[in-house]
Amino acid sequence: MSSIRLDIVTAERAVYSEDVEMVIAPGVQGQLGILPHHTPLMTTLQAGELRIKKGGQEVSLAISGGFLEVRPDKVVVLADSAERADEIDVARAEEAKRRAQERLSEKGQTGADESLAEASLRRSLVRLKVADMARRRRKRA
Ligand code: ATP
Repeated sequence: MSSIRLDIVTAERAVYSEDVEMVIAPGVQGQLGILPHHTPLMTTLQAGELRIKKGGQEVSLAISGGFLEVRPDKVVVLADSAERADEIDVARAEEAKRRAQERLSEKGQTGADESLAEASLRRSLVRLKVADMARRRRKRA
């Protein structure tokens, strides 16, 4: 099966670098599926799950927005943050979710406070989802 190199990097570290068969990324306008030989493009990502198909298996990472570039020889994701499922600290994500929900329920917030809390809530929910799906996959295997 044909494959394409996928590099996922953040400002802090290289998170993932492998030849893969398909990438499904959370584009700002919806899910974006990329197969080898895809036309070059550059797009913005939102917080969400980035799914990778490789060797008949699927793995997911939590990303919190960034950019995706399809080049002729590889796909590059420059993420604000990215974690593989096994790197996700579930207790930390639960705590971030609780804090964000608390902030959203407070009265007298500015629109900016609310947007920050919503973004934080979304990041925590994505992390919890990715960790939970990996746990279920492990159970099935
Ligand atoms: P928190 O409120 O828990 O710090 P956050 O959403 O504000 O969460 P980010 O600003 O998105 O955190 O990320 C800061 C750094 O911490 C990044 O390197 C990110 O990968 C890492 N990180 C954040 N939450 C988790 C988590 N639950 N498990 C593992 N790494 C995390």
